[in-house]
Amino acid sequence: MKEKIIHLLRNHELRITQTRQDVLAIFIRAGKHALTSGDIELELEDIDRITLYRTLKTFEESGLVHAAIDHTGKQKYALCADCDTHHHSDDHPHFHCTKCDQTTCLESVTIPQIEVPQGYHLKDLQVILSGICSSCSN
Ligand SMILES: [Zn+2]
Ligand SMILES: [Zn+2]
Ligand SMILES: [Zn+2]
Repeated sequence: MKEKIIHLLRNHELRITQTRQDVLAIFIRAGKHALTSGDIELELEDIDRITLYRTLKTFEESGLVHAAIDHTGKQKYALCADCDTHHHSDDHPHFHCTKCDQTTCLESVTIPQIEVPQGYHLKDLQVILSGICSSCSN
Protein backbone atom coordinates (compact mmCIF):
# COMPACT_ATOMS: atom_id res chain seq x y z
CA MET A 1 0.00 0.00 0.00
CA LYS A 2 2.71 2.49 1.01
CA GLU A 3 4.69 1.72 -2.13
CA LYS A 4 1.63 2.18 -4.30
CA ILE A 5 1.01 5.58 -2.73
CA ILE A 6 4.57 6.78 -3.20
CA HIS A 7 4.52 5.53 -6.78
CA LEU A 8 1.26 7.40 -7.49
CA LEU A 9 2.56 10.67 -6.00
CA ARG A 10 5.79 10.41 -7.98
CA ASN A 11 3.92 9.61 -11.19
CA HIS A 12 1.89 12.76 -10.74
CA GLU A 13 5.01 14.86 -10.14
CA LEU A 14 4.18 15.53 -6.51
CA ARG A 15 6.57 15.88 -3.61
CA ILE A 16 6.02 13.16 -1.05
CA THR A 17 4.74 14.50 2.26
CA GLN A 18 3.12 12.67 5.15
CA THR A 19 -0.19 14.52 4.65
CA ARG A 20 -0.32 13.65 0.96
CA GLN A 21 0.37 10.00 1.75
CA ASP A 22 -2.31 9.92 4.44
CA VAL A 23 -4.97 11.61 2.31
CA LEU A 24 -4.21 9.48 -0.74
CA ALA A 25 -4.45 6.31 1.39
CA ILE A 26 -7.99 7.28 2.39
CA PHE A 27 -9.00 7.80 -1.26
CA ILE A 28 -7.54 4.43 -2.23
CA ARG A 29 -9.50 2.75 0.57
CA ALA A 30 -12.69 4.54 -0.51
CA GLY A 31 -12.27 3.17 -4.05
CA LYS A 32 -15.15 4.28 -6.26
CA HIS A 33 -16.79 6.27 -3.47
CA ALA A 34 -16.41 10.03 -3.37
CA LEU A 35 -15.37 11.79 -0.16
CA THR A 36 -16.02 15.22 1.32
CA SER A 37 -13.25 17.03 3.17
CA GLY A 38 -15.30 16.31 6.31
CA ASP A 39 -15.02 12.55 5.69
CA ILE A 40 -11.24 12.91 5.50
CA GLU A 41 -11.09 15.08 8.63
CA LEU A 42 -12.90 12.34 10.54
CA GLU A 43 -10.12 9.89 9.69
CA LEU A 44 -7.18 12.27 10.09
CA GLU A 45 -8.05 13.99 13.32
CA ASP A 46 -4.97 16.17 13.57
CA ILE A 47 -5.07 17.63 10.06
CA ASP A 48 -5.85 21.31 9.75
CA ARG A 49 -8.48 22.43 7.29
CA ILE A 50 -6.27 24.71 5.19
CA THR A 51 -3.69 21.97 4.65
CA LEU A 52 -6.40 19.52 3.70
CA TYR A 53 -8.04 22.02 1.33
CA ARG A 54 -4.68 22.67 -0.35
CA THR A 55 -3.91 18.96 -0.58
CA LEU A 56 -7.25 18.29 -2.30
CA LYS A 57 -6.70 21.17 -4.76
CA THR A 58 -3.20 19.90 -5.54
CA PHE A 59 -4.51 16.37 -6.05
CA GLU A 60 -7.23 17.66 -8.36
CA GLU A 61 -4.77 19.73 -10.38
CA SER A 62 -2.40 16.78 -10.65
CA GLY A 63 -4.93 14.27 -11.95
CA LEU A 64 -5.13 12.18 -8.78
CA VAL A 65 -8.71 13.00 -7.79
CA HIS A 66 -11.65 14.57 -9.59
CA ALA A 67 -14.66 16.51 -8.36
CA ALA A 68 -17.80 14.41 -7.94
CA ILE A 69 -20.57 16.93 -7.40
CA ASP A 70 -23.98 15.79 -6.20
CA HIS A 71 -27.26 17.64 -6.31
CA THR A 72 -27.01 18.64 -2.64
CA GLY A 73 -24.17 20.94 -3.66
CA LYS A 74 -21.67 19.21 -1.39
CA GLN A 75 -18.13 19.23 -2.79
CA LYS A 76 -16.86 15.66 -3.04
CA TYR A 77 -13.77 14.14 -4.61
CA ALA A 78 -13.08 10.67 -5.93
CA LEU A 79 -9.93 8.86 -6.97
CA CYS A 80 -9.14 9.05 -10.70
CA ALA A 81 -8.76 5.78 -12.57
CA ASP A 82 -5.97 6.82 -14.91
CA CYS A 83 -5.71 10.53 -15.37
CA ASP A 84 -2.34 12.11 -15.90
CA THR A 85 -0.79 15.26 -14.50
CA HIS A 86 -2.07 17.48 -17.28
CA HIS A 87 -5.35 16.01 -18.28
CA HIS A 88 -8.39 14.47 -16.59
CA SER A 89 -10.34 11.84 -18.47
CA ASP A 90 -13.14 11.14 -15.98
CA ASP A 91 -16.01 11.00 -18.44
CA HIS A 92 -18.38 8.93 -16.32
CA PRO A 93 -21.54 9.80 -14.40
CA HIS A 94 -21.70 9.98 -10.61
CA PHE A 95 -24.47 8.26 -8.75
CA HIS A 96 -25.73 9.86 -5.56
CA CYS A 97 -27.65 7.56 -3.24
CA THR A 98 -30.39 9.41 -1.41
CA LYS A 99 -30.46 6.74 1.30
CA CYS A 100 -26.81 6.43 2.39
CA ASP A 101 -25.61 9.74 0.85
CA GLN A 102 -22.70 8.00 -0.91
CA THR A 103 -21.59 9.29 -4.29
CA THR A 104 -20.13 6.58 -6.52
CA CYS A 105 -18.17 6.76 -9.79
CA LEU A 106 -19.98 4.70 -12.44
CA GLU A 107 -16.99 4.14 -14.66
CA SER A 108 -18.66 1.48 -16.77
CA VAL A 109 -21.41 3.88 -17.88
CA THR A 110 -20.71 6.09 -20.88
CA ILE A 111 -22.23 9.53 -21.13
CA PRO A 112 -24.07 10.08 -24.42
CA GLN A 113 -22.68 12.67 -26.78
CA ILE A 114 -24.17 16.11 -26.06
CA GLU A 115 -24.65 18.56 -28.92
CA VAL A 116 -24.54 22.22 -27.93
CA PRO A 117 -25.97 25.01 -30.12
CA GLN A 118 -23.70 26.83 -32.54
CA GLY A 119 -21.49 29.38 -30.86
CA TYR A 120 -21.28 27.41 -27.58
CA HIS A 121 -18.14 25.60 -26.57
CA LEU A 122 -18.54 22.71 -24.20
CA LYS A 123 -15.60 22.30 -21.82
CA ASP A 124 -16.95 20.27 -18.96
CA LEU A 125 -19.89 17.95 -18.52
CA GLN A 126 -21.10 16.60 -15.19
CA VAL A 127 -23.72 13.91 -15.14
CA ILE A 128 -25.28 13.34 -11.73
CA LEU A 129 -27.67 10.48 -11.23
CA SER A 130 -29.56 10.04 -8.02
CA GLY A 131 -31.56 7.24 -6.52
CA ILE A 132 -30.85 4.13 -4.47
CA CYS A 133 -27.43 2.46 -4.74
CA SER A 134 -26.83 -1.30 -5.00
CA SER A 135 -25.92 -1.76 -1.32
CA CYS A 136 -29.07 0.06 -0.18
CA SER A 137 -31.46 -1.71 -2.54
CA ASN A 138 -30.71 -5.17 -1.12
ZN1 LIG B 1 -9.24 12.55 -13.26
ZN1 LIG C 1 -26.91 3.76 -0.73
ZN1 LIG D 1 -15.86 9.80 -10.69
